[in-house]
Amino acid sequence: MDTSCENDDKKQLIKLQRELKILEGKALYLSLYDNYASFLIAFKAQHLALTVEGKCIINSLIRSFHSLGRAKALPLTKTSATMKISYRSDTDSDFKCLEESIARGEFGKLNELWRVELEREKGFFAWEIQEVFSNYWSKEESDKFLNEMQRDEIILPTRFDSISQHSILSGLIAEIEQSAQDFKLEYGHFPHSSTIPTGQVNACAANLKCSSRTFLLFDSQLFLYCHLFSKAFALCLPIIKSDSSGIQLSSNIDKVKLQIENNTNKCTERFFDVLHAYVILGCPSEAEPYLLPKDYISYSELLRQGMELMVVGHEFGHVNAGHLGDATWRSIRMLSEAEIYKSHRQEFEADFWGCVLTLQAMSRKGYDSTLSFIGLDLFFSAMVLSERYRSLRSGIRDEHFEEEESESHPSFGARQAFLREAIKHIDGIKEHTASIQALCQFYDGALEHLWKTSIST
Ligand SMILES: [Zn+2]
Repeated sequence: MDTSCENDDKKQLIKLQRELKILEGKALYLSLYDNYASFLIAFKAQHLALTVEGKCIINSLIRSFHSLGRAKALPLTKTSATMKISYRSDTDSDFKCLEESIARGEFGKLNELWRVELEREKGFFAWEIQEVFSNYWSKEESDKFLNEMQRDEIILPTRFDSISQHSILSGLIAEIEQSAQDFKLEYGHFPHSSTIPTGQVNACAANLKCSSRTFLLFDSQLFLYCHLFSKAFALCLPIIKSDSSGIQLSSNIDKVKLQIENNTNKCTERFFDVLHAYVILGCPSEAEPYLLPKDYISYSELLRQGMELMVVGHEFGHVNAGHLGDATWRSIRMLSEAEIYKSHRQEFEADFWGCVLTLQAMSRKGYDSTLSFIGLDLFFSAMVLSERYRSLRSGIRDEHFEEEESESHPSFGARQAFLREAIKHIDGIKEHTASIQALCQFYDGALEHLWKTSIST
């Protein structure tokens, strides 16, 4: 039997996937109009993966799209290439329950723009596909691909979910679930998950009265905030070596300060932009999209993954530690002192689990444990700084900033300090406590300088 055609396809797929791997990081940081070639490769690779392996690599593709940032700048074109989208809420009562709860406003007032955003997102794909086709593909190729696209069905949890965010979340959930299995944790069914457009960078674990399963819920903008923050922060670190053996970033605080002050790669503007977009505009995607210089991509990726996994790990941590019990998710009412104490203790406990599960996931990917911790630690810095910016904008002088704790949550600063101590008790990382704490101090110094310089310019 002649299988040469199939083998050629396979070879081409491997080649394309390799190119995609290189470009994937790059595409993450592109503004849409910068690089059609990467989209072409991504589409071709997906197309081949569909035919050769019977499964698609749409996850990385979607992430590339999503990360472009301002999808709203795109023109909308109606086309027959729209992908089929179905909703679990139509067939599964738990998801129906979630959808109805969101619609009733149980998770807060919905971001008014969500419907427009979701429609735009669907149009975005269709428009992009059409563009790629007309520019690079033959009519035959496009027709074949379009047919496959139309067969490909995207299943979203509810009508409030976003294609790109759900895709990102699914990847993170799979990592945390794998970590939980690695540790043989006993938690019954792994919770369902979904993104919801609350317009607040927030997450929660919730038992809904009408659902048999727990839900882990994440705001649609949360991961984008992690993504943009890790990019902006990475930019302030000077590169001291970049060759075939890898990239080395400086950990000399004076050099970092100099880089921030010289600001040749606009790190202060980028940093300020993401804080402002989140805190003042309430929407990280309002930050200006930009291409990260090649040498920074892998490092920024590492930080981002640590931050995102920590968020998901924390919410699952609540479930694993049995915090939800028979209660529905925390209601907004005054808590007694004992309840506040309990609630804060539970946050620390969930952070501990989030940290352990994240480090496990990062180590499976082959990342160094010290750097992995820095990534998850950066999540807390990002939240403290957003609070600091909020305080500054409300007229409080920066030197008088004091992060407040809420009834339900300790301050992000306290949570960060707790984890930096807690690592002394985690196998596989406790040996590195001294170097981690030293590195955290270095990062604190770099962030402080970045913050001060950003707000003064
Ligand atoms: Zn929590």
